[in-house]
Amino acid sequence: MSRKTLPLDARLSDYLLSVGVREPELARALREETTGRPESNMQIAPEQGQFLDFLIRALGVRRAIEVGVYTGYSALITALALPADGELIACDINPEWTAIGQRYWRQAGVADRIRLHLRPAQDTLNALIGAGESGRFDFAFIDADKEGYPDYFEACLKLMRPGGVIAVDNTLWSGHVANPAVQDADTAALRAFNATRHADSRVDLCLLPVADGLTLLRKRA
Ligand code: SAM
Ligand code: CA
Repeated sequence: MSRKTLPLDARLSDYLLSVGVREPELARALREETTGRPESNMQIAPEQGQFLDFLIRALGVRRAIEVGVYTGYSALITALALPADGELIACDINPEWTAIGQRYWRQAGVADRIRLHLRPAQDTLNALIGAGESGRFDFAFIDADKEGYPDYFEACLKLMRPGGVIAVDNTLWSGHVANPAVQDADTAALRAFNATRHADSRVDLCLLPVADGLTLLRKRA
């Protein structure tokens, strides 16, 4: 027993996946199709998908935003966890990667819950704010270009209702955020983002050491 987070070796990680994840068949197929691609490490981990599924259901999310779709794994998980009249605004700039996701969304019968906006995410978020959608969303998942995180967060915070939750991926960034010798732009951006959120009194905060680090931020009333 320990008061520290348990490190996961390969055997324990396999065990966690075997008893902790109920991955839908189509999500598994999408993950396997994506695995052959050179940039496949961009996809979230299955245990993260399981956590998002649980969180979305527990919060009773009806309207959600995703910033960073790639081949659509987290969007598929999100859409499957939404009620039939739920809605996911999905933001990305890459038509080739997102087309793979769209194929699986259709097969899973959730394509009508997902509105894909193919343009810089900030434009989509600003358009939502301009259309009077502030305060009308329950959940957001931010997982795109790391230097964009502060602006995505500010826009998503406006769009969340009080009590709405924003999940932000890669906040531990392979551990680089804790290593002062690493000073590339992405690491510096994530380090600054984490420090700013830690001091941000507009939100409740929880940083989970799941996969590459997942920060949960709940909009205070
Ligand atoms: N959540 C995805 C999943 O579960 O597979 C992974 C997302 S991947 C880490 C990041 C995505 O952000 C890429 O698909 C990339 O095209 C997208 N992206 C990068 N810059 C963007 C921008 N300015 N606006 C919208 N999407 C962007
Ligand atoms: Ca990610």
